Amino acid sequence: MKISVDKITESPEEISFAENTHDLDLIDGEAKVGDFRFPPFVDVNLVYYRSGQELFFHGRLGGTIEGCCSRCLKGCSFPLEKEFDFVLTPDPFAGKNGELNRDEMGLSFYAADEINLSPFIREQVLLALPMRPLCEDGCRGLCMVCGVNLNEESCLCAASESDPRLAFFRTLKLGQ
Ligand SMILES: [Zn+2]
Ligand SMILES: [Zn+2]
Repeated sequence: MKISVDKITESPEEISFAENTHDLDLIDGEAKVGDFRFPPFVDVNLVYYRSGQELFFHGRLGGTIEGCCSRCLKGCSFPLEKEFDFVLTPDPFAGKNGELNRDEMGLSFYAADEINLSPFIREQVLLALPMRPLCEDGCRGLCMVCGVNLNEESCLCAASESDPRLAFFRTLKLGQ
């Protein structure tokens, strides 16, 4: 998504659009980062206005990503939701190149007549990824011993570990 700088006025404008995740170039043209798979589009709602030469943006991301539960490894979808703000100021080094420059203070500059929002949206999408996604809050994960998904099955490993008298169950193969 691109916005022309001269269309940004002091009265706030609100836009909603679907940002193509391929345009975000999330990973080598594939809409995939780590274990996450992205939908073709993420919804973006953006309010923007200017104050003097500074451009203010407030946005909201919405969408769903596909990933794996960090405990039981089951594939599931997670909401992708995030609010973000950023301010662009005129690039003091404008003229050296037309590229977006950013310093380490989180201040961003604009130099071109048109602002390409995709790098900002891309950054926010990456920040919105859950660190430890869970299929549900109470996910019981996998048994460390036999590997069954404890949400779907139960096993005797925990019992045999905690009670040495049940240790023989660990080697016992239960019939059908
Ligand atoms: Zn899980
Ligand atoms: Zn087990």
